[in-house]
Amino acid sequence: MVAAKITRIEETYEPNFDAKWFFPDRQPDVVERHRDWMLPNHYDPASGKLKLSIHSWFVQVGGRNILIDTCVGNDKERPLPFFHRLKTPYLDRLAQAGAEPEDVNLVMCTHLHSDHVGWNTRLTNGRWVPTFPNARYLFHRADVEYFKAVDPHKSSARGEAYKDSVAPILEAGLADLVSGLHTVDEHLALEPAPGHTPGTMFITLASHGARAVFCGDILHQAIQIFHPEWNSVACADQVKARRSRRLVLETCAGSGALLMPTHFGAPFVCHVDAKGDTFVPRWA
Ligand SMILES: [Zn+2]
Repeated sequence: MVAAKITRIEETYEPNFDAKWFFPDRQPDVVERHRDWMLPNHYDPASGKLKLSIHSWFVQVGGRNILIDTCVGNDKERPLPFFHRLKTPYLDRLAQAGAEPEDVNLVMCTHLHSDHVGWNTRLTNGRWVPTFPNARYLFHRADVEYFKAVDPHKSSARGEAYKDSVAPILEAGLADLVSGLHTVDEHLALEPAPGHTPGTMFITLASHGARAVFCGDILHQAIQIFHPEWNSVACADQVKARRSRRLVLETCAGSGALLMPTHFGAPFVCHVDAKGDTFVPRWA
């Protein structure tokens, strides 16, 4: 049996979010204390911006091609300038990793924010159509209901992606809505971890004795390993977001699973060790 192969499919990796705005609990001396790992891959001192990668994880396991989180996408109308009408060679990068769009069997979105659902669809003849026509798309039911109800013009809940990146998948009959613990197959399972959004979930992978946890935005940056109580400005429920972050970190520290977030800077993944009542990263 072949072991799982995981490839990072990068969309963008550059300074983007203002660090002070993004982490309201941020302390002024944080860069000084964490300089050894933070610079230059995770923070840009010149601009004061975080350097958050935006990428998918492409998992090949059990004969299937699986995409975890689908970035911002091309041509999407977005209020954030660095998400707006992108033109990146994302699909070329996926092809280099071994899959044309028709080869993708399964797409899983850890939650339905705009930078996790974008490549679900692409613009063809003026319409948003599924990018991966032969895939099943797994969404959490709570996020579908939450974002369906959001008016993107009246809310900061970032519901702008629902119409162009989620609804077309539902209309095409390609979506499977899940809730609670959900086992995909002998390798993959989804675990609910609400807080960042109501339907946020993390994905566990087990193959040949190795384990990985795909945590989406339960952690945006490695500083949250040291400070699991730090929510990002995008977290919807403050108490639950903290609880879910700790759950993911405890899961990784307790099992030795590799933490595979969607936005960490290089080297993009790490192991997690418990230290007192908090945690430290062990870079891969
Ligand atoms: Zn995100």
